[in-house]
Amino acid sequence: MQFDYDDQNIFAKILRGEIPNSTVFENDHALAFKDIVPQAPVHVLVIPKGPYVSIDDFAANATPAEQAGFFAAVAAVCDMSGVEEGFRTIANTRAHGVQDVPHFHMHILGGKPLGRMLPA
Ligand code: 5GP
Repeated sequence: MQFDYDDQNIFAKILRGEIPNSTVFENDHALAFKDIVPQAPVHVLVIPKGPYVSIDDFAANATPAEQAGFFAAVAAVCDMSGVEEGFRTIANTRAHGVQDVPHFHMHILGGKPLGRMLPA
C-alpha cells in the first residue's frame, strides 16, 4: 500500500514547533503530549517524529530504532501517568477508523473505568 504523508497536518506543525503543545515526554524518535480535548482523566497522544500516516504505515516502514523509540515513549507515558489499574490504547486509522489527523498517533486513555471497547 502507498502512504502519502501531508506535512501540513496539525501534528507535523506541533513537531516543527509551529503550534504549542503540553509535552509529557520526548525522546529522539517520539513526542507525547496531552490531547487538547481529553476524553478521560488521562488522555495522552504519542506520535513518532518521522512522517508516518498511520499505524500500518509505521509498522511497515519505520526503522527498528524509530519503532523502539516510539514504544519506549509509550512505556514512559504509561509509567508516569498513574494508570496502574489499566488503560486503553487506540490508533484510529483512515476513514472507517475515523482518523482526523493523518500523522500516526496512539491515544493512551485511562484514569477511570473506560467501559467496553465498542458500543454493543
Ligand atoms: P484521531 O481522531 O485522529 O484519532 O484523533 C486526533 C486527536 O487529536 C483528537 O483526540 C483531538 O482532540 C486531538 N487534537 C487535534 N488537534 C490538536 C491539537 O492542536 N493539539 C492537541 N494536543 N491535540 C489535538
